[in-house]
Amino acid sequence: MPNTILIVEDEPNLLAPLQYSLKEEGYATLVATDGENGLRMARTMAPDLIILDVMLPILDGFKVCEILRRESDVPVIMLTARSEEDDRVKGLKLGDDYVTKPFSMPELLARVRNLLRRAASSPTSEFAERSEIIRSEDLTIDQISHSVTLGDKTLEMKPREFSLLTLLASNKGRAFTRNQILERLWGHDYIGDSRTVDVHVRWLREKIELDPSKPHRIVTIRGLGYRFDG
Ligand code: CA
Repeated sequence: MPNTILIVEDEPNLLAPLQYSLKEEGYATLVATDGENGLRMARTMAPDLIILDVMLPILDGFKVCEILRRESDVPVIMLTARSEEDDRVKGLKLGDDYVTKPFSMPELLARVRNLLRRAASSPTSEFAERSEIIRSEDLTIDQISHSVTLGDKTLEMKPREFSLLTLLASNKGRAFTRNQILERLWGHDYIGDSRTVDVHVRWLREKIELDPSKPHRIVTIRGLGYRFDG
């Protein structure tokens, strides 16, 4: 069975080559040309991956992604038209990956392959075997239920944040370089830069640190990367 990719894009000039290239690669494709239809198809057709444009009629891509995220873990690649930092950060926060238009088709296809491979081989499985529940002071990470609690409060975690926290916390005291983290969580051929890691660490700190500006759990090792200290 080929993987099915839902493309949500309203520009025919982009949609046609995108669909053509994905079919050439052996994927089945579904198409929606506005956000509302995109959301409906994502719900009813169960695609394996979604390529989601930001600027869409009816419902924009950010909104679609936000709604989808409450319902499923389907991998989403956002197509951000603008190159502003804000949009890229938002695209990354909501989606699993993003490309900025104009993008190169080989780059997009590489990201599609990468995300599908990762989805097929559950991102935390390599490290989940050691211990199903990781406890550190008032922080509890339950790898069975995929939940994180701080004291008696359950924390909302995106799948990538959960994987990052699990990777670091299950290797307490061990330093990871940004590239090691990128490789383990985003895959070997992730085309991006290590600031992606910094952004995710920042989001995690906002959730688990008493004072995110003076972190004591996930500490920065200058010139190297990060370490979980407790
Ligand atoms: Ca558009």
